[in-house]
Amino acid sequence: MAEQHLDSKQVRKAVKALLGHRQQKNTLDLDAAAFTLQVGLKKAPVDPSPKPRLIPLPHRVRNDAGDRRGCLIVKDADKPWLKALLLDGERPGAKTTRTKLDEGIHKVLALSKLRTSYKQFKDRRELRDRFDDFYCDDRVVPMLGKLLGKSFFDRKRQPISVRVTRGPESLREQLRKADSCARFVLKEGTCAALVCATTDLNEKEIVENAVAACDGLVSCVPKKWRNVQSVVLKLPDSASLPVFAGAPAAPRSYAPPAARPPAAPAAPRGLAPPATAPARGFAPQAPRAPAAPRGLAPPATAPARGPPMGAPRPPMGAAPARGPPMGAAPPMSAPPARGPQAAFHQVPARAAQPPTAQFGQMRVADGAPPPPGPPRGPPSRSGSMVSAPSQQAPKTFQGYAPAAEGGYVPTAPGGAAAPPGAAQPSRSRADILASPRGSMSQPALPAAPMSMPAPQVEIDESSQCDGRYMRCSVKTLPSTAQVASASKLPLGVVCQPMALDSQQDAPLDVVNFGSTGIVRCKKCRAYVNPFVAWVNNGRQWRCNVCGFSNDVPNSYFCQLDERGRRRDRDQRPELSKGSVELVAPGEYMVRPPQPPVYVFAVDVSAPSVASGLVNVAASTIKKCLDSLPGAPRTQVAVVTYDSSVHFYNLKASLKQPSMLTVPDLTDLFVPLPDDLLVNLAESRESIDMLLDSLPQMHSGSPSPASCLGAALTAAYRVMGHVGGKLCVFQSQLPNCGEAALKNRENPRAYGTDGERMLLLAEQSKGKSPEQTTASWYETRAIEFSRLQIGVELFVAPPTNAYVDLATLALLPKITAGQLYYYPQFSSKKDAAKLEAELTRALTRPTGFEAVMRVRCTRGLRVSAFRGNYYVRGHDLLALPNCTPESVFALEIAHDAEAPLTAGAASVQASLLYTTSSGERRIRVHTLVLPTSPDVGVVAASADVDVVANLLAKASVEATLKAGLDAARSRLQQRCIDVVAACRHGRSSASVGGYGAPAVRGAPAAPQTPSQPPKLPESLQLLPLYCMALLKSAAFRGGADVRADERSYTLQRLDGMAPEQTRSFVYPRLFALHKLPPSQTPFAFPPPLNLSAESISSDGIYLLDDSLQLMVWVGGASDPKLCDSLFLQDPSDGRVMMKPDPGGDSPLSRACKVIAELRKTRPAYLALEIIREGDPQRQPVFFRHLVEDHASFPGGQYSYQEFMAHVSRHA
Ligand SMILES: [Zn+2]
Repeated sequence: MAEQHLDSKQVRKAVKALLGHRQQKNTLDLDAAAFTLQVGLKKAPVDPSPKPRLIPLPHRVRNDAGDRRGCLIVKDADKPWLKALLLDGERPGAKTTRTKLDEGIHKVLALSKLRTSYKQFKDRRELRDRFDDFYCDDRVVPMLGKLLGKSFFDRKRQPISVRVTRGPESLREQLRKADSCARFVLKEGTCAALVCATTDLNEKEIVENAVAACDGLVSCVPKKWRNVQSVVLKLPDSASLPVFAGAPAAPRSYAPPAARPPAAPAAPRGLAPPATAPARGFAPQAPRAPAAPRGLAPPATAPARGPPMGAPRPPMGAAPARGPPMGAAPPMSAPPARGPQAAFHQVPARAAQPPTAQFGQMRVADGAPPPPGPPRGPPSRSGSMVSAPSQQAPKTFQGYAPAAEGGYVPTAPGGAAAPPGAAQPSRSRADILASPRGSMSQPALPAAPMSMPAPQVEIDESSQCDGRYMRCSVKTLPSTAQVASASKLPLGVVCQPMALDSQQDAPLDVVNFGSTGIVRCKKCRAYVNPFVAWVNNGRQWRCNVCGFSNDVPNSYFCQLDERGRRRDRDQRPELSKGSVELVAPGEYMVRPPQPPVYVFAVDVSAPSVASGLVNVAASTIKKCLDSLPGAPRTQVAVVTYDSSVHFYNLKASLKQPSMLTVPDLTDLFVPLPDDLLVNLAESRESIDMLLDSLPQMHSGSPSPASCLGAALTAAYRVMGHVGGKLCVFQSQLPNCGEAALKNRENPRAYGTDGERMLLLAEQSKGKSPEQTTASWYETRAIEFSRLQIGVELFVAPPTNAYVDLATLALLPKITAGQLYYYPQFSSKKDAAKLEAELTRALTRPTGFEAVMRVRCTRGLRVSAFRGNYYVRGHDLLALPNCTPESVFALEIAHDAEAPLTAGAASVQASLLYTTSSGERRIRVHTLVLPTSPDVGVVAASADVDVVANLLAKASVEATLKAGLDAARSRLQQRCIDVVAACRHGRSSASVGGYGAPAVRGAPAAPQTPSQPPKLPESLQLLPLYCMALLKSAAFRGGADVRADERSYTLQRLDGMAPEQTRSFVYPRLFALHKLPPSQTPFAFPPPLNLSAESISSDGIYLLDDSLQLMVWVGGASDPKLCDSLFLQDPSDGRVMMKPDPGGDSPLSRACKVIAELRKTRPAYLALEIIREGDPQRQPVFFRHLVEDHASFPGGQYSYQEFMAHVSRHA
């Protein structure tokens, strides 16, 4: 009987489509998803009953029988024997057979017990939740309703009645049957639904089950098939696919109460109620629009008899209903809050046309994508179509519009109108923002047409935040934590919020919201951005971070265009650009913006004066005074220190600055607090005079001591009330006063576990010997951060002496400043570098009093921050200063509690700061990335530079926490894991699209060790980078990296941008002796592999490791060339590069390369020239030849060997 109504071919197509949809949507859901069959009735059943009816299915739906627990409720008298029979396997009377009735009954419950022990609601609830299935003796059914309570019926735990009196065999049969049947409860209302299959069954079984279930269900309803309006099949998160459409019921009345949305109340559990209840007197098709909110895509069921020609087009898109007074149509078909966008045109088809004609062409079946392009107007065959001048013509069934060919294409969710020209994959902004959880009005839609192989989320790249501001380690995010962990890739974003500020050509648009106030999400406080969705005709916007729907302030309202985008989008940078700057109103200020303050604390101890540090620092500061940002408000103070602290009265009225020495360091007294920090413009003369005389002032009777701690306290007193930038010039280990440090350096600890302690900051002794507290420097730095003081620390020891950078580095690290290190400082060698770096530090654009917060789409969270900052609150980064060089790496993790449900995820970084001109601004960067459940897709989208950056930074942390050995082995393992994940992920990604589970379970693909690992193109360089990192100055083993150098490298690495880590990890090596002629525009010569094979004695090579430049001059290199390139300083024999003569000579070519390299680095690249055979420096150069094997721990593999090693273990 069913066959003539339900076409199994049609069902098969739908099943195929749904399976396809599931595959591409989320492959990681290990639980089977249930196919729900929904039957829309023309007339609600008159005798609904909570009693479950069993509908036999050819294939057992549940695959988890072993885990299901059943409870049988019986009369008291029957309990003993039933219990014996079912639970103990004893058959009454027959002692020989111990055949336990293993039908999933775990408890036999007597009625009296139910009465007494489950009186409390809580107990009943517990009982309900303890079992999956309830059975009962049919004789106790009447008593159960009251005893069990309503919740059993709501949660589909209605007991299934069995007859126990017929004996064990019959009971067994009944239980077995119950187990293999679908349960169906005929409720009131016109929608009947049951679960007919799960995705564990194969396609054929699902089809057979669906047909049988439909048949069985229909046989339970009055009037059988004549009462069936529609049949649809769906998965939990899919659209409903129609598989049958019945003839319309005869309408009886056309005067519906307009206010009452028809059919909706009748929809139990939000299932899409098909059609209408004719009893209420609606035209059959008209109410279907309101009935569609769940994504029901009904086939053409419209009766075509009535010619609606010429009738006024009802707003809902003109159901060509026959005969109803047209005036009645609009009210009855328009649901209250939905505008014309929700409209759809019904295809006026032949009467009671079987759906196959249309649905049969549904493109999901054969996997071909829907045809691109042309506006999907009314189907051409619909001669009777209302030819209204409809721009909003696209037929959107809440997400599915029947395409011209009959295919189904997704449209923008949220009832927003689909763009006529882009009904199909144009999943733009709006789609990205599909609310995390579909609601009645915003159904969760499949991410792409069902035929698409992978989710196609189209992100408007023109609105994306520039990659230099924010860059993610993958361009497609894993959709779940399982995919993320299966890929083994570090997940994170490197954010450089002011990256382009020193470039003239990239100013950000400044937006002033004025009286409207800054438009932010009420719930998560994210800022409005190009990726929010505009809903409810533009009266609301849905947040792309948390999914909350916010009201649009009246003054900010704007009409939407046909694509659901605001018409003023292009005029408003905040709606069209991923990076904008907002003017912050008063409530974003704790205090009025402070003037830019620069305080210089200069170590004037003997070594400092002798090395020329004081001289270079003073002269550079003087040169920079004109370009300090923030004139005319800029304030300046100078403090110097040796064994005592010196303050300088710089008051403009004084003829010359006067020095005030405070020798008592224990309780530092600050004299004349008002005259120390002065306005730069007013006191310019005094300041110039002081800087000119500073080196001489202290050269007379220099003290060997350096009381850095007291100087920091002095600076803290001088500038604490305003904050600002504190530049500290230190030339030795602080050795007097409260924060003196001990020389902890212990060369014997190098290469051992003890090395880690040298890399950690020194800790202060607590009250008891075992108790240690945070370092003085840490405490002071945190205090600085609170007072908005950022420290730029220049450490320039004139000798090779230890300065405990591990401890000193806390100052710039916590206060978001920067560390500069000049080992063996001499003004000749390092003046250029110090001058360049100090100039940059003083004159670069700086954001003062900054805080940064990063928000991620619900389902993701920031799990770790790296860089220089102090965390205030739990996720607010306090940055007293933020500069173009400030780089923060954020690791991102999936939130265990809130799965990521959107097809794309957003990361929004917002930086609140004061510009040097005293304006409070909020800089907002928004990055939106698609997500995918396929490990292969995720891995292929990896950005290896960011991956290496994050791995390196994670290794820095591991080094400090667990030591170098542990950090190296973790890094190596991580590399192997990624390679393994890619290899296995790729081989199994095709298995039904369920990539990730296969990865976890699948055995390793057989692969010979010698075979290089098959990596996606994106990750080809990862093993090389990992190996190079193992050999870098940051992580290499052995005893040749001193503690200060290591601390410096680790600290620098922690704040590096991906662009820079690339060169740090795998330095660039150029052959200077055969540079090609310079080109315009400039292009670097081809780099060489970092192997001794690339080097020969007759050559000259330039190496750039992002921290410095080295030129290695071979012993047999052309003397003429050497003469033309280098000159020797007669005073100290130091070899230098000659200045660029211009033109096109070998020297000029080399100078150009060096100049270009320097341009790309934030730090000044000093150039060192190393002769072949130099016993001190040549090993440092050769360290960088990372492709060769070496003898220190971590360096034992050559590149080939490392690849083989990775391949073997992956
Ligand atoms: Zn939000």
